[in-house]
Amino acid sequence: MRCAESLRVQAYFDGEVDAVSAVEIERHAEHCGECRTLLKDLEQVRAALRRSAAYAHASPALRTSISRALDQDGAAPVQDMRERDIRGPAAPTRRIRPFWLGALAGVGASAVAVACAFLLVLPRLGNPLIDELASAHVRSLMPAHLIDVVSTDRHTVKPWFAGHTDVSPVVADFEPQGFRLMGGRADYLDRQRSAVVVYQHGAHVINVFSWAGDGRGLPADVSRNGYHFVFWKSGNLDYCAVSDTARDELLSLVRLLQDLGARDRGE
Ligand SMILES: [Zn+2]
Repeated sequence: MRCAESLRVQAYFDGEVDAVSAVEIERHAEHCGECRTLLKDLEQVRAALRRSAAYAHASPALRTSISRALDQDGAAPVQDMRERDIRGPAAPTRRIRPFWLGALAGVGASAVAVACAFLLVLPRLGNPLIDELASAHVRSLMPAHLIDVVSTDRHTVKPWFAGHTDVSPVVADFEPQGFRLMGGRADYLDRQRSAVVVYQHGAHVINVFSWAGDGRGLPADVSRNGYHFVFWKSGNLDYCAVSDTARDELLSLVRLLQDLGARDRGE
């Protein structure tokens, strides 16, 4: 009999699932021998294909012109950052220009390239939660990782979180104030399915993470490597806004969200 998860396992192997699903599938495979075998078989097939494939090396000039063309097209070659230990190393993948990239007027391939470079040199920031947030923010800037549900309508984004995350954060579009709601995403943070509301501010992306607070104190706000991390509590949720936009601008959005949270709770 075939395990009901086998299709999802194959999608996972092909790097086609979001981060939250990837974690779920890895957990499943830990306990399901059938799916572990499936992953092993897929890996063997891939390795065999790689061994038998003929490779020709491109000249440096050709590489440069291809890179330039990709940069101009808004799609940079990136390593799939969802590679997990269970899959072993894989060849770099190229993704087709994701449709939402068009929505990111001014946030081009250069930002993605900078994000990739930043991730490679990302120093540990001393606090595991901040490390997690920094990695999640940078990962989100890579093609096809930013948004799971694309919408400028809070009435679309908020219900989506109910089905895909463990929390229900405040969501609103603040376009008149310069913070356009782009959509939402599920992310795995602090061992839970956190909700991320994504805003665009000029050429910058702002990720607003939220997760169920456990009563521990939040880290103090920090700015590292050009990224600002602003923490606050609202209701029973912990929030962190992360962006490379100016800190004052980020604080403006945080105040809007805090006010909205207080209004929602009838304060
Ligand atoms: Zn299974």
